[in-house]
Amino acid sequence: ARPIEVLASAMEETAGARKEVQVRDAVVHWFKMDLRTHDNRALWMASQKAREAGVPLVCMYIVSPQDFEAHLRAPIRIDFMLRTLHVLKADLAELGIPLYVETVEKRKEIPTRIVELLEEWGASHLFANMEYEVDELRREAKLVRMCAERSIAMEVVHDTCVVPPGALTTGAGKQYSVYTPWYKSWVPHVHANPELLDLFDPPAPNPESTRDKVAALFDSEIPEAPETKRLPDKDAKRFRALYPAGEHEAMDRLEKFVAEKIASYHAKRNLPAQPGTSNISVHLAAGTLSARTAVRYARDRNTTKKLNEGVEGIKVWISEVAWRDFYKHVLVHWPYVCMNKPFKPEYSNITWSYSAEHFEAWSTGRTGYPIVDAAMRQMQHMGWMHNRLRMVVASFLCKDLLLDWRMGERFFMENLVDGDFASNNGGWGFSASVGVDPQPYFRVFNPILQSEKFDPEGKFIRKYLPELREVKGKAIHDPYGRGAGALAKRAGYPQMIVEHQAARQKAIDTYKEGIKLE
Ligand code: FAD
Repeated sequence: ARPIEVLASAMEETAGARKEVQVRDAVVHWFKMDLRTHDNRALWMASQKAREAGVPLVCMYIVSPQDFEAHLRAPIRIDFMLRTLHVLKADLAELGIPLYVETVEKRKEIPTRIVELLEEWGASHLFANMEYEVDELRREAKLVRMCAERSIAMEVVHDTCVVPPGALTTGAGKQYSVYTPWYKSWVPHVHANPELLDLFDPPAPNPESTRDKVAALFDSEIPEAPETKRLPDKDAKRFRALYPAGEHEAMDRLEKFVAEKIASYHAKRNLPAQPGTSNISVHLAAGTLSARTAVRYARDRNTTKKLNEGVEGIKVWISEVAWRDFYKHVLVHWPYVCMNKPFKPEYSNITWSYSAEHFEAWSTGRTGYPIVDAAMRQMQHMGWMHNRLRMVVASFLCKDLLLDWRMGERFFMENLVDGDFASNNGGWGFSASVGVDPQPYFRVFNPILQSEKFDPEGKFIRKYLPELREVKGKAIHDPYGRGAGALAKRAGYPQMIVEHQAARQKAIDTYKEGIKLE
């Protein structure tokens, strides 16, 4: 059974028992990747329950260093999340609600520890939003049963996608594996069920939470990142200035983007030198913003109040946010993509090069292809990379260098502030031609043409490759091939590590051979 079905069975088996549970001393919300008070379904449900019964609402966050490792969380992402916990804790405290934070070293001990805490607090109800990764769904299924055995009702609800996974199927009742027809059913589904975009209010102030047992929970400490996942000092100040933490910042960013940039999003979204995208992926990944709010906010400013009509920039932006839903739906339906397997099994036999030297050049931005190198340096500098460039560098890794896409997928997760398993896996699957709705294997981005098309004046390249700042005109896209070799050499910029046309042919032949073997 798929992990989501395992959880559904646990919910179904315990439905009767959960209904019987009477509210005792407290109701608990367990925060995971939903670090906000506004528009948070499970938190809202917990708050309603606590209010109706007149008992304290306790919020809880479990820090799990093993989870950080298992999910390849980047230090920048962990730092953002820990800083956000401070904001969340202060916001909740103003409402009279404690945020209890505890570190549990071994991830397999999380369910047991949660149950212990619930019993200690006399809590009868636990609410949480669903996470769609395999381990998380299985863990929640276990916890639902453990809770039911102790007369605790655990409710795990859909929240992270606008449309819950499984809600959209093809005419034949199957999960879509191609985005366009999926999106053509996503839009009418949301129009027909407008409540999918309804806002969940933040919890009401809860004066009960100062009661004895719960009062001490206000004092728990938010830990520092584990040693192995700490931000290097040289990056900390810059990264923190780039990504102020918390949900208020998320909302400010969304409002500013919609007020100033969304109308031209369709025209500028592919140009990395112009900051034409929203840069809210950090917030969607940490859950400081809900996808519902993002889409609702844009829709409400559209002339037609529709998702796919009206202002072009708004339409296109909503369709991009929908990609996030799409990849989560894919992950839930085909959970093996979570297990290092290509979506298309026939692509399992490609003979990758595994050249350590090429991987090093790619990851440090020293391939000799300025657009690729500037993009990789942008990621080092910001913990974020423009979407067009993610496609360019991913294609370059898998096709030009014939390096296993999983090496790139991992490297991205380990470095991105917005690292999200489903979207990252989907993006790599697309670029390496092994995923759902992929780029065909014989379509290989030409990095120089991409550079000329999307950074025509080389502004982006010059920003991130200071050594090439003096290179004039079109030579910026290929300094050694266009008469600026002496300057590039003097500046220490490398020659191209592979020649694109030959590398392209090799990639096509290798892919063809791999697929044939299957
Ligand atoms: P905007 O263009 O303003 O889009 C708004 C939001 O829509 C984004 O924040 C994001 O949540 C969603 N979105 C947009 N494009 C996509 C897409 N192609 N796939 C999924 N969601 C999308 N996105 C992540 O959030 N985390 C990742 O780890 C990630 N890894 C990627 C790896 C590769 C190889 C590729 C090609 C794409 C990846 N993306 C990932 C998708 C996309 O690049 C980022 O979401 C986007 O660049 C974030 O910037 P933004 O918020 O300014 O986006």
